[in-house]
Amino acid sequence: MTGSSGEDEGPAGPLVAALLGLGAFACERIEPRGDGGVSLQLRGGQGDWIEITASRAAAGRGHFGRCALSLRGQVSTARRAESALAVERIGRAIDACLGRAPAGCSIVRALAGPPREGAVVFGSEAVRAMLSPELGPGVRTTDGHWITAIEAEPNPRVMGDAPLRVSVQIGREGGGAPFAIVVEKRDERPAYARTAHLSMSHHGTGTGRTSGAHTLCALVAFLLGSRDNPDVAMTFPGALAEVGLGATLDVDVFEWIPFAAGVKPALRHEVPYARVEELVQWVERRGFVAAVAEENRRTPDAVVYVARTPEGVRALAEADAPIVQALPGSIPTPQLVRLQGRVGELLGYPACCVEAFTARVAREVHRRIGGGEAHEHFVAAEEAASRTSVFHGRLNDLLPQRAARLVSFFPCRYDCPAALGWADGVFAAIEAQAPRLARELGAALVGRMVIGVDGARGDAVRAGVETLALCFDPF
Ligand SMILES: [Zn+2]
Repeated sequence: MTGSSGEDEGPAGPLVAALLGLGAFACERIEPRGDGGVSLQLRGGQGDWIEITASRAAAGRGHFGRCALSLRGQVSTARRAESALAVERIGRAIDACLGRAPAGCSIVRALAGPPREGAVVFGSEAVRAMLSPELGPGVRTTDGHWITAIEAEPNPRVMGDAPLRVSVQIGREGGGAPFAIVVEKRDERPAYARTAHLSMSHHGTGTGRTSGAHTLCALVAFLLGSRDNPDVAMTFPGALAEVGLGATLDVDVFEWIPFAAGVKPALRHEVPYARVEELVQWVERRGFVAAVAEENRRTPDAVVYVARTPEGVRALAEADAPIVQALPGSIPTPQLVRLQGRVGELLGYPACCVEAFTARVAREVHRRIGGGEAHEHFVAAEEAASRTSVFHGRLNDLLPQRAARLVSFFPCRYDCPAALGWADGVFAAIEAQAPRLARELGAALVGRMVIGVDGARGDAVRAGVETLALCFDPF
């Protein structure tokens, strides 16, 4: 066992060290008792088992000095020595924990430390704080299991509004199948352990799980159970709270969160046709209205309109219909240019930014101000930059991951006051629901951005291609 010695060892350090070094015996359960003592159930395969009950001993009495153990069980002759060693180790560990604890402290409290206080927001941080430092990532059992990570389950499904789950992932040396302990809000579904607020279940194949893995499960349940205080208020955010910038999401959260929060009046969203039905149902379950563009020649995906009222959706679909029906590359008529402006207005975009956009549509979006052609995004950025004094990260629309931006329109300049106000509202809405995402996006938007004349961004820009490099600072 490593990782449980030294200065950052918590109260349970000696016990964790003893249990993870049990070898063939697995600790399957650690349970607090009514008298403040604790019982541990050990199983050694081949029918061998021991139950150890630890209670406080009168000062100086008992084999270990501070605690007394009583035993029952059934151990084959061949395993007597091994089981005696396990009991000895556990007794010494409990005694060591009692030796560090305040006088009169119960065994459970001496082993697990004080329960959490104050308000707790459930998440990977909270679970890490309740398990650490004894059971942080890297802690190993003698039979080669270790906690590889404690994190929110990857790629939570935003569309399903999944409640947040945290998985304690356990790997095995030599490539044995990994498995995880999933910790989530307590409910009545099957669980191997429950605390005041939490349920724990096993996930993953986990074939070939050996004694060390069982012991890790028992320790996680015991520590979370002892440190989860029934008196604290624990809040359970949705999975969105732990979504990071790198997560694969069902929908464009930078559009949906501000829409749901009322910052955006409507959305024009492109999704693969196969996903339209699911999306429309999801929108309608939330009390919003959706419609799909009937005849779309512009994109390989479906165009979906979402608004709060049927009138809002109808106005957007009607204004956009001639635009999506026009053949790509066709010369925009004055009527189409006017309708582009109308769509921007219905989506709530600032009038000055819509005007700058329709002016580009009128002259053809690939035509640069100084003549020549470039990718639409390059033309828009070059034009906005030419009008800008201060380059605000909030209006940066040049990250390689294009969906990662606060403004879903082309800002007329990178210090447009109306666009900055819009970005503030969007950022506040994202921060409230997805704080990690807001933090990561906020950091990513500041700095030097590069776009090639062909529209390639960041690392994808090829050598020799004309580029535009802009430095966004402040946020
Ligand atoms: Zn503007």
